Amino acid sequence: MQELKHYFNEMGIETFWYKKSYNKNTIEQSETSLSSLKNIVSVCKNCDLHKTRNNTVFGEGNESAKILFIGEAPGKDEDKEGKPFVGRAGKLLTEIISSIDLTRRDIYIANTIKCRPPNNRNPEEIEIKACSNFLEKQIELIKPKVIILLGKVAANRILGIDQPIGELRKKKFLIKPNNIPAIIFYHPAYLLRSPKEKKKVWEDLLFLKSVLKEYDC
Ligand code: URA
Repeated sequence: MQELKHYFNEMGIETFWYKKSYNKNTIEQSETSLSSLKNIVSVCKNCDLHKTRNNTVFGEGNESAKILFIGEAPGKDEDKEGKPFVGRAGKLLTEIISSIDLTRRDIYIANTIKCRPPNNRNPEEIEIKACSNFLEKQIELIKPKVIILLGKVAANRILGIDQPIGELRKKKFLIKPNNIPAIIFYHPAYLLRSPKEKKKVWEDLLFLKSVLKEYDC
């Protein structure tokens, strides 16, 4: 490990996050519940976002939900309340799911990163990496049957592909290692900015319903 760090440093690549966030054992062996993982996240200093956050935003909802939504990052309201999707985008998300008879109590909502980036800028790669074990562990503990990725950051993080959402929606991707099906929706904040796209949401919901049926949800 030291040798590897030396080579990375020689190449000018930051390695401070490597040990802290990629030491999977620190999470995997000791954390068997979402509440203990939430405690770890609440004091996390794996990246610089801890310096500007008011609260970490771990996620909330039904801990054995069949459906897991993954967003991008907390915004101003979420940072203030410590809860995901409580601002305008969150209200739209609640309306979207209610149109297929789901409530926030039926699902679980998490974010790709757990701290607000200053001025709601896009999360940086190093911040996404610093949080990646937390998200993976959440998926492992919740064991959803279907995952919905909200927007490009979540899609990119989970699927490792960088394509416009328009090309990814209405498709099913199987996430390793357990082949959990994932589908991609426009991010509600994008829908607020581009109301014309809202009419596509119904198509996405119909596709979701077909996947939910296929996986017995
Ligand atoms: N946008 C997100 O991606 N997540 C939130 O929690 C709020 C807004």
